[in-house]
Amino acid sequence: MNSYKSMDKDNQETNQNKVLSAFMGVDIPPYGDILNCMHCGLCLSVCPTYSLTRLEKANPRGRISLIKAVAEGELAITDGFVDAMNYCLNCRACESACPAGVKYGELQEAARAQIEIFQHGTIPGRLFKKFMLETVFTSSLLLKTMGYSLWLYQKTGMQWLVRSSRVLEFLLPSLARLEGLSPEIKLPFSDQSIPEQWKPEAKPRYRVGLLTGCIMNMAFPDVNQDTAEVLIYNDFEVITPKDQVCCGSLHGHNGDLATARKLARKNIAVFEKAQVDYIIINSAGCGSFMKTYAHLLREEPEYAQRAKVFEDKVKDVSEFLLMTGFKKPDHPIPLKATYDDACHLLHGQGISQQPRDLLNAIPGLELVELEEASWCCGSAGIYNIVHYDDSMKILDRKMDHIKETQAPLVITGNPGCLVQLNYGIKRHQYKGKAIHPVTLLNLAYKGKQPEISEKQN
Ligand code: SF4
Ligand code: SF4
Repeated sequence: MNSYKSMDKDNQETNQNKVLSAFMGVDIPPYGDILNCMHCGLCLSVCPTYSLTRLEKANPRGRISLIKAVAEGELAITDGFVDAMNYCLNCRACESACPAGVKYGELQEAARAQIEIFQHGTIPGRLFKKFMLETVFTSSLLLKTMGYSLWLYQKTGMQWLVRSSRVLEFLLPSLARLEGLSPEIKLPFSDQSIPEQWKPEAKPRYRVGLLTGCIMNMAFPDVNQDTAEVLIYNDFEVITPKDQVCCGSLHGHNGDLATARKLARKNIAVFEKAQVDYIIINSAGCGSFMKTYAHLLREEPEYAQRAKVFEDKVKDVSEFLLMTGFKKPDHPIPLKATYDDACHLLHGQGISQQPRDLLNAIPGLELVELEEASWCCGSAGIYNIVHYDDSMKILDRKMDHIKETQAPLVITGNPGCLVQLNYGIKRHQYKGKAIHPVTLLNLAYKGKQPEISEKQN
């Protein structure tokens, strides 16, 4: 067992009469990072949960103080502590605002891993979460079985029946919210439609690996296809390994770092075997997490160095195209568009200009800046399911700004944000559509226009 008392001698001496820290195991919030917080409060104005509540325990400074209190044995891992941690969106806007460089995202991930050790929550809830994270999201077969089942539910009229009868809303409101937010499943899945090896006609500039992801593979196979086509059009050889697995971000953000490590090891081996120069990601959440594989596997001699090599190859598709140079599209898309920064692209990877430059290269596209584009949309993994009401307040704030732009195209580079923004568009009966930047670029390459219908998924 590890503890802060064994790590920090001064702390041992000054806290002799206090109980030992409740934190244990490998994934302990780093004490040095906790101490880096100087309580200046400069992060408060960018924190969405603080803006909703005005409570100290719902802002970054307050959450870090709570983590510190547990670390120093002043506080146990109580239900209150769990609530304060789980109420965080993990949007990491506070990290961008922090002058001291506090790595809030890592603190939050480790705190959630500790919560898992102490097993808070109901037994059915914990078992369901364990089954989903450890069994379903680690198995390509089970993930696809879930995808096909959802597809059948959506296409056979059952979804229409459930929604129009509103039976779920009366019987199981939380399931009704999950159902309402579920993305449309599209066949074929992208790992079935994109060839494992795809060569451009010209001599390849680089050989790149493509992560098809878990949710992206089933709900956004078209975005994966667009990504592969854009890469081919720009003379890159695209390798899409069939044996790749989920990146582990869902696990990492929900306190299951052990399974996240297992998935990271597998992906490292798979993409090493593929011998690619870069690994291209079109999902901000996945890219952000895969850029931390070296930190995740830092204690494993066999993987630490390999994870660093892997991590250095990971590029968001917009980052990669701007870095290597891309062909400017000839065909115009004469529409107004606005760009919403996905938190894990902006705050997690520091990428904001590249997607805008990509969009500005499309002839005729009028890109207007969105007020509070750096503010979370309220999606945040499963936050919109477990904290539905607050997520909707955050989404409504986003939609108000989107409506001000009057842009029919709302562009963002993360699957969760695409689902959430399209949900907001429907909720506000806004005539528009949320779309991935690479999709728009591919349409411009092909001389096609985006379809914008009244009805959104
Ligand atoms: S801005 Fe940084 S140092 Fe200041 S309170 Fe927030 S986390 Fe702490
Ligand atoms: S990650 Fe987002 S919600 Fe959480 S404390 Fe930081 S700014 Fe607030």
